[in-house]
Amino acid sequence: MNGYPVLEPVDLVVVGAGVAAYSLLQTLDRNLRVAHFARSFSETSSWWSMGGIAAATAIEDSVASHIRDTLSAGAGMCDPEAVASIIGEAEDAIGFLEKNGVVFAGRGREGGHNVARVLHAGDDRIGAAIMSKLVERLNHLHSIEARLAAIAVSDGRAAGVWLSKEGEVLLQPANSVVLATGGATSLFEHRTTPPGNTGTPIAAALRAGASLSGLEFIQFHPTAIATPNSPHPLATEALRGAGALLIDASGRRFALDADPRGELATRDIVARAIAKQLETGPVYLDARPLGRRLLEFEFPAFCDGCRGLGLDPAENPIPVQPAAHYFIGGITTDLQGQTTLPGLYAAGECASTGLHGANRLASNSLLEGVVIGRRVAAVVGGQAAPIGKAEPYTVHSSGPSLQAIRQTLERSAGPSRSAAGLAAGLASLDALVPVAIGAPAAQEAAGAALLAELILKAALLRTESVGAHFRSDSQGSAPRLAPIIVDGGSTPHYASNGCGDA
Ligand SMILES: Cc1cc2nc3c(=O)[nH]c(=O)nc-3n(C[C@H](O)[C@H](O)[C@H](O)COP(=O)(O)OP(=O)(O)OC[C@H]3O[C@@H](n4cnc5c(N)ncnc54)[C@H](O)[C@@H]3O)c2cc1C
Repeated sequence: MNGYPVLEPVDLVVVGAGVAAYSLLQTLDRNLRVAHFARSFSETSSWWSMGGIAAATAIEDSVASHIRDTLSAGAGMCDPEAVASIIGEAEDAIGFLEKNGVVFAGRGREGGHNVARVLHAGDDRIGAAIMSKLVERLNHLHSIEARLAAIAVSDGRAAGVWLSKEGEVLLQPANSVVLATGGATSLFEHRTTPPGNTGTPIAAALRAGASLSGLEFIQFHPTAIATPNSPHPLATEALRGAGALLIDASGRRFALDADPRGELATRDIVARAIAKQLETGPVYLDARPLGRRLLEFEFPAFCDGCRGLGLDPAENPIPVQPAAHYFIGGITTDLQGQTTLPGLYAAGECASTGLHGANRLASNSLLEGVVIGRRVAAVVGGQAAPIGKAEPYTVHSSGPSLQAIRQTLERSAGPSRSAAGLAAGLASLDALVPVAIGAPAAQEAAGAALLAELILKAALLRTESVGAHFRSDSQGSAPRLAPIIVDGGSTPHYASNGCGDA
């Protein structure tokens, strides 16, 4: 075992502390022996969520309508079975959250939804409203702050995790492993996500033998508040749903030039419209039409964020820019969260279930985390597997700088891409010289470099624009709708048995 300490074997190891992990933990059979680890218990996208959770609960709404909007946002690339199955369980998911004490109050409309179906809780702090309840009543659980470094594999199945904790490497043997480790948008320089969302666990899943898919699809939030440093505070989409407008420096509403839905077109369209406008001057979100009372009452987190920057949204338009926000692709799973590696499950943003296709419909991600987290809870368990033959683990002591990787992706794989830009990005990644940074930072940098390379290669391979992936050099031909997958090595390719070409 390489001489590393080995922890007591468990039935299940859960990695991550967001909505997917806690939905699973709240649902799990309490007789199972569970080990729970996360890099951070507070810096998670789940806690930071500001808008709401999508579910067709209004009288004028229907599951069929929510499904239609999800498929439409996904631009022909959703797996219709995944959409019907996950959206079909939205009402149950809301019931589960309510049973755990979450109080929903009101509904808003967000981009791509044809009706107001985004349920609010805690004003514009939906994440805190949900997470504060989901973490309750889990006193039996011993949760430990540690980083996943690798997945232990024995006889072709996941058999535990290698962890890095306070400079020490540990092996946690387990019969099943669940990754609920969030996305990888913190591989971009401009981002709204917590610093730890660098996707190291997604790279670890690939190294262990699981397949990845949809890596070219990154969702850029159109209205991150323009600040010099990341993560950028968010001007939540619900503001636009409530009537805030996008204007240029002269006060002109330019979003209507790109789409008749204007500010409420899907995020990819609005993000590109803003990116294009930024080439000629600043862009602002004008929330003044909402008035001070509504802003303070319904959007306190947004107002707090603005105040922290010396801005007053009731008095002045707020400068905004697109920033990487949601990792649409990830570890390929079925609708029970099973990856292509036996014994390994993934739930939440790190997984690719086929729900989002080429573009996530706003507020469908908290929903997916709840639904799949609970489903994984229903299928995992069993006795701890013997770990005797786990493949040895290599500690990295040097790697490229994370900042250089972030700059490369920002330059080459932003809201608008081209073959030349993507190829230049790959060349600059190749040229990065590893520096001695020591574990676990080196472990993270190695995973980040691998994932960045795969994102660039997948984006290069998909020559046409579809959904969140926009190629400025596309010849305008219909996009191939088959998914791009990575199933070993570092060569993304089109799935031969995908949804077919169109
Ligand atoms: C500012 C913001 C606002 C948002 N608003 C909404 C919204 O209103 N509605 C909506 O549906 N979605 C929203 N989203 C997206 C949504 O929050 C996420 O998709 C969702 O919360 C992801 O949940 P998760 O459980 O998969 O991962 P996360 O909540 O990101 O949690 C990931 C966990 O994995 C841990 N982790 C990561 N790497 C490692 C490692 N190497 N080792 C150990 N642990 C690791 C992290 O520390 C963390 O505990 C928002 C996102 C952001 C950033």
